Amino acid sequence: MKKQFAVIGLGRFGGSVCRALIENGMEVLAIDRDEAKVEQFRDIATHAVIADTTDEKVLKSLGIRNFDHVIVAIGDDIQASILTTLILVELGVPHVTAKALNAYHAKVLNKVGAEKVVHPERDMGVRIAHHLISKNILDYLELSDDYSIVECIAGEKLNGKTMVELNIRATYGCSIIAIKRGREIIVSPAADETIQTDDLLVVIGADADIVRFEMDLI
Ligand code: ADP
Repeated sequence: MKKQFAVIGLGRFGGSVCRALIENGMEVLAIDRDEAKVEQFRDIATHAVIADTTDEKVLKSLGIRNFDHVIVAIGDDIQASILTTLILVELGVPHVTAKALNAYHAKVLNKVGAEKVVHPERDMGVRIAHHLISKNILDYLELSDDYSIVECIAGEKLNGKTMVELNIRATYGCSIIAIKRGREIIVSPAADETIQTDDLLVVIGADADIVRFEMDLI
């Protein structure tokens, strides 16, 4: 059975989540209090409704508790975002993801019971900063406040070097967990594996260690 999603707030973030879920074959109920926004999603979402989600009765009448996952993508109205999240949790929605505008907002969303709190603007800022440090950093995934996974492209400096020669874990404290070379993926590369220019390296470690590795070798 297809997973049922509902997205509340159809701004840039919520709208993009809604489109991506639909593109991936999911069923999505799109909700916004603004009629014009809802109109934009009539032909995109599975269903689109105008509703103010701070009203518990309205959420109940939409049968929101039958959805597997609700995404609260309300933008600037922090009060509405918190109240909506609280009602969803109280109604027993199994998975609630909420967008936070800042650290205080995030703290309250966690306290009222959001399963996951996302910070799209902050995370995108960090991603872009990594791209600015080096054009060879392709992607960045934050594991916690201090640890990340980074995808980067090996340049000339690493060409022809084995994992043993580089000894990255001892020198920088981070580890190469996979190498992607064309269609081939080498997971947990062995000590004698040789890196080639243009290999895609997946590196895990503390942020500070990854940055030192990037600055020296990427
Ligand atoms: P973004 O930064 O993602 O573009 P916006 O602030 O533009 O965010 O969008 C948030 C959306 O949330 C708006 O379309 C707004 O109408 C909607 N919204 C705000 N409060 C409520 C609410 N109480 N019920 C339903 N939708 C809401």
